[in-house]
Amino acid sequence: MRFLRTRIENDSYVMNVLRAGNFKFEHGNNGLDKVGKPVNRDAWYMSPHTVDAYNDPTKNTIVLSAGVLQPPIFNKDADDAINYGAIGAMIGHEMIHGFDDQGRQFDKDGNLTDWWTKEDADKFNRSARVLVDEYNKFEVLPDLYINGKLTLGENIADFGGLTISYWAYRISLNGEPEKIDGCTGDRRFFLSYAQMWRESTRNESRRTLVQVDSHSPTRFRVNGVLFNVPEFYKAFPEVKVEDKLYRPEDLRPIIW
Ligand SMILES: [Zn+2]
Repeated sequence: MRFLRTRIENDSYVMNVLRAGNFKFEHGNNGLDKVGKPVNRDAWYMSPHTVDAYNDPTKNTIVLSAGVLQPPIFNKDADDAINYGAIGAMIGHEMIHGFDDQGRQFDKDGNLTDWWTKEDADKFNRSARVLVDEYNKFEVLPDLYINGKLTLGENIADFGGLTISYWAYRISLNGEPEKIDGCTGDRRFFLSYAQMWRESTRNESRRTLVQVDSHSPTRFRVNGVLFNVPEFYKAFPEVKVEDKLYRPEDLRPIIW
């Protein structure tokens, strides 16, 4: 539809959508005007106002939009525990994607090549299997379970991302931080992580996403992750072995 002019006009919403699509087809990130030209390693695959972050293994890069740098994910007025628990975990998540079941298949230059020893790959697959089995058992709706394999990369990134952000937070401290509203720094860190994933979704949408989305539903991005992290139990000693979500140590994964 090259005859459509690529500018926003007052005629109709539909025509503006068509013109925007046309512009993207020609000038977007994978647009026709890129064909045969060198890869632009500085191009981003999302808009600045989009609330999202991604890892591009073909460029060995992570990108966080301006849109994601606002509460509850980043808050310049909040204390460090809150920010490490949210934006810190998100940055960690994107970093770990480079070493999840898919990202690990790309080398440092972004080429799809097997750069791991067989021994390391076997160890990784055995550890990842623990997460696959765990998430396969999470029931989203009656008789509807998460697909542990489909969501493996995201689940590895969630688990590893929160873990490295926690340790980055601990390293940043100069002594134990003061309690705020009766909460220790560690409790605030984990609470912030949980608050970041609050959402409201209809069951119909959940049902669809479980089939097609590589991300686990957010309830499990919280419960599935926190109960695998040993430091979470130290921060919340009121969680006991007999509690429903308690995860025995021998069933907790060790990956990154
Ligand atoms: Zn991810």
